[in-house]
Amino acid sequence: MTISELKNTAKQYKNAGDFDKSMELYEELWAQEQNEWNGYFLAQVYRKSNNFQKARDLHNQLAQRYPNFKPLKTDRLWLDYSEKIKDWDNSNLVSDAKDILSNTNQYDQYEGNIYIKTVLSTVRYLCYKNDHSDAYEWLLKLDQSRITNTGFLYGEQWYPADRKVYFIRLADVLIILGKYVDYINESFEKLNFSPTKTRQFKSHLIDSITYDDYISRVKLARYIKNFQEEFELREKKNFKKIYNPNKTISVSNLSQYLFCPVSFAINETYEIDANDTWEKDEWLGNRRNYSDRHRLFNQNQEYQKAFDDTDILVSDELKNDFGHLFKSKILVDNVSKHLLQLFTDSHKSIVGAPDYILENSNGNKIVLTEKFSSIHSADSQTPFDSDLVKHFAYLEKFDQTNLDFGYFITWYWELIDIETNTGRVKKKIKITSYRLVKVERNNSNSNKLNNALNRVKSIKSSKSMLIDADKISYANKCFNCSVFSYCNHKTGKYDQINLPYELTDLNKVQRTESKKYDNEIDDDDDLPF
Ligand code: SF4
Repeated sequence: MTISELKNTAKQYKNAGDFDKSMELYEELWAQEQNEWNGYFLAQVYRKSNNFQKARDLHNQLAQRYPNFKPLKTDRLWLDYSEKIKDWDNSNLVSDAKDILSNTNQYDQYEGNIYIKTVLSTVRYLCYKNDHSDAYEWLLKLDQSRITNTGFLYGEQWYPADRKVYFIRLADVLIILGKYVDYINESFEKLNFSPTKTRQFKSHLIDSITYDDYISRVKLARYIKNFQEEFELREKKNFKKIYNPNKTISVSNLSQYLFCPVSFAINETYEIDANDTWEKDEWLGNRRNYSDRHRLFNQNQEYQKAFDDTDILVSDELKNDFGHLFKSKILVDNVSKHLLQLFTDSHKSIVGAPDYILENSNGNKIVLTEKFSSIHSADSQTPFDSDLVKHFAYLEKFDQTNLDFGYFITWYWELIDIETNTGRVKKKIKITSYRLVKVERNNSNSNKLNNALNRVKSIKSSKSMLIDADKISYANKCFNCSVFSYCNHKTGKYDQINLPYELTDLNKVQRTESKKYDNEIDDDDDLPF
């Protein structure tokens, strides 16, 4: 093989995970051409094939010859991690982990991951040794914003994102140490909640994580993640302002306003990222939208195929609900297509991008929107006006689309237990039911639309609005609100909304000593690792 063939083939074997074969070829390459990159790759495959001594000997040589070659330093740290931290028989594991951290920068693009993995592995080891106090101190070494939210596949197995591992481990340790109530108290204090709102929100939070004889670490982890993300947002002010007083009103503005006027003001002022949740990890299979079900039905002419990822029964009622929609043609799809199709009214005074526009066999144009909700959410019985107002606007204002009527679908999901091939039980999200509501043009809907439009116009022009500080926030609503982290008004302390919306600072709070609580922790069944 030529040098170039050796390089390519060795790399292919390495990428395919065949480290023994790759190692043979890199050894041959190293014999023919010695330079920093060839040395680096050979040391890397020695490490990946668990030939730690060979990797270390080579690293010692390479460090002399190429002292300033950064990839070698990074690989050597990975070698320390693989050899010393993954080996739980290593009696010096904790001090070796400290050594790695002292040579690693968690903010460095290459070394950051070594730092994170070293902390998480050490914490796991300390928990195994029942040393939860030290595990807690180790968890505090990590800056949560540096931890990736992407899970990964290794071999055949799916591993949860480090971010999820971190927060669940933190919740677990706080529960075991009896510190979780202190943590919650401090968080509300830091966020400046009034005493009344602290009582209401705390009681809701504790109720939602408490079962008869245990505290759910997964549910607590979600709250901790939200608290920490808000602390970071308010401390580092890493938001993006988009406020433009002359911006055209959008259909989403009406929906935000009816949901909560504060939510409207926040969305007007900041670019809000789609909530970075762990959902990707938790869906059983891929999340299917209406357009996926439409496609599956039309490929097979079978309702069963369109709903085979759900627990929904294919009944006459379902066929009656979806038959005419599935047989309609999709004219506009703003859900699965990347390029949004926007529409306006004839005066260009309101803009919107409906999820779908369909045309049925009678030539009727139908506007359809869909939403995914927990079965336990507040709108499980009746749809909110904040959802329906979008249809009212499309039907009444967007004349050029010639819409006849609309449908609003809510897909309800539940967390179900599934058993993995290792026999463990994991929680997964599955669609278990749906609600389909027909929306028509009528006087009552028209009044609701005009009312919402006038109120949005009014706050946009006056740039302020008085509200009742106590009544604007409710734990059940706020904890499910997509702009919770940006909201000052959940605290119950402000009776005016201003545009643009400015974020308040955090309170300075001292860490308190923990009290011991008696709740037992649950078994491993909701721990994904
Ligand atoms: S967190 Fe509560 S008060 Fe704040 S915007 Fe959301 S719903 Fe409104």
